[in-house]
Amino acid sequence: MTRLPGERLDRRPGAAADVADDVPLVGVLALQGDVLEHTWALMAVGLRPVPVRTPAQLDAVAGIVLPGGESTAISRALARSGLDAPLAVRLREGMPVLGTCAGLILLSDELTGEDDALPRPGGLAVRTRRNAYGPQTASFDVRFDVAGVEGGPMEASFIRAPRIEAVLDPSVEVLASVEGAPVAVRQGPIVAMTFHPEVAGDHRLHAMLGDLVRAGAGR
Ligand code: GLN
Repeated sequence: MTRLPGERLDRRPGAAADVADDVPLVGVLALQGDVLEHTWALMAVGLRPVPVRTPAQLDAVAGIVLPGGESTAISRALARSGLDAPLAVRLREGMPVLGTCAGLILLSDELTGEDDALPRPGGLAVRTRRNAYGPQTASFDVRFDVAGVEGGPMEASFIRAPRIEAVLDPSVEVLASVEGAPVAVRQGPIVAMTFHPEVAGDHRLHAMLGDLVRAGAGR
């Protein structure tokens, strides 16, 4: 077994212990946001998570999670780290990606109003409104079924969540909706959701990312 940056997390109860070398490396963009929760989620579904902060680290991964957090801060950090251009290239090449909340914002082809100027990789044909459900105090938890996810309703936390206002291409599959708005979508190797599955510890969408990575959509 190769020693990895997140190795000490292997001792967390319930986390995957020894991970074989042939298990794909999946990055968690580790510039800002809830990086640890995604690291644990990836371990729990049998993947090898590594933090991605540099272009060289990005180069090593077969898939990536763009975590929730603050999309403006992550956008700035992407530019500072020199990851912005290489990340956009890998996503265009079809590297599987799971984007949650701020991650979904960064993947959105269109943002409403002035937010559309936010530098971001895009690639997901949706129009998204940031902070559409109100302030942090208006955050909420809800359960709903997600297409392609078995085992009962998803446990979802919406934290200062964005809202997908429009799907811009028929290749975008809506996996779940809440109050008439899509909350989980898939477009080829892109899986994105406006909520945080990792906060409630529901790892089934991370498993979906794992399936995409193993199917070789990345490299
Ligand atoms: N409101 C945040 C933003 O606009 C996203 C919140 C989140 O990721 N939980 O970036």
